[in-house]
Order: sequence, then C-alpha cells, then structure tokens
Amino acid sequence: MGWGSDIIGISKYHNFLYQYRKAVKEGRLIRGKCMICGGTYRVAGHHESYYEPLRVLWFCDTHHKVWHKARRDSYLELFALKALVDRAGRKAVAAKIDMPYQTLSHKLGGFSPLFDDEKKKIISALEEVAKSPKE
Ligand SMILES: [Zn+2]
Ligand SMILES: [Zn+2]
Repeated sequence: MGWGSDIIGISKYHNFLYQYRKAVKEGRLIRGKCMICGGTYRVAGHHESYYEPLRVLWFCDTHHKVWHKARRDSYLELFALKALVDRAGRKAVAAKIDMPYQTLSHKLGGFSPLFDDEKKKIISALEEVAKSPKE
C-alpha cells in the first residue's frame, strides 16, 4: 500500500486522517493491544482501506512493519500476476479458469481477494495459454 494521499488524493486523505484522529480523541476508537504479540508499547492504528477511517488494525511498531512488508509482498505478487495475465490475454485466461472477466479483473486489481486455489488455476491457465499456438 502506498501513501494515502497518492491513492485517494490529498484532500480525501486529510479528511480520512481527520476522521480517524477525531474518533481516537473522542474515545469512539480505543487504541488496542498489538494484534500479533499483545504488546502495548507504541501501538499504532493500521488501515487496510483509506475509505474506512474507523476500521483499524492495531500493531506495535515491530509488527506494523512486519504487516506492511507482507502486504507489499502480496501486492507485488499480484502486480506481477496481473502483468502476466494481461500478456496472455485477460479474456483467454478468464475463459480457461471459468471465471467471469469482471471477477478476474476485480481480483487482479486487488478489489476482492484472490484465493490460493484461484491463484494456482490462473498460473496453470497461463502455462496452457503459453503452450497453445496463437491464432
Ligand atoms: Zn506486536
Ligand atoms: Zn499501516
């Protein structure tokens, strides 16, 4: 996940931060313990979506970094997969794995989860498409 202001634009990002900080200040959002280790030292709120300021995962400093690295790795993986699918032809791949084109596009765009079994199907479809001769 990149910087919020790059993703949703600076004014929306400021509004997001404002909503989040306000909720913390007013006690509507209670700073929790780190969700991974249960630690309470330097716990920060992590957001998966910049559209949902009140949906927060709480992490200590260390685990916040761990989480971001994991997210970045899976983002890069998705990005690479998308590039491969587009080279093979997104429609051809969608047909091969029997998934609607729209659904595949949503998944590759990171708008809905891509499950491990679906990932495997996509990869074997890519291999098949690569083998079959071009028309
Ligand atoms: Zn922790
Ligand atoms: Zn974060």
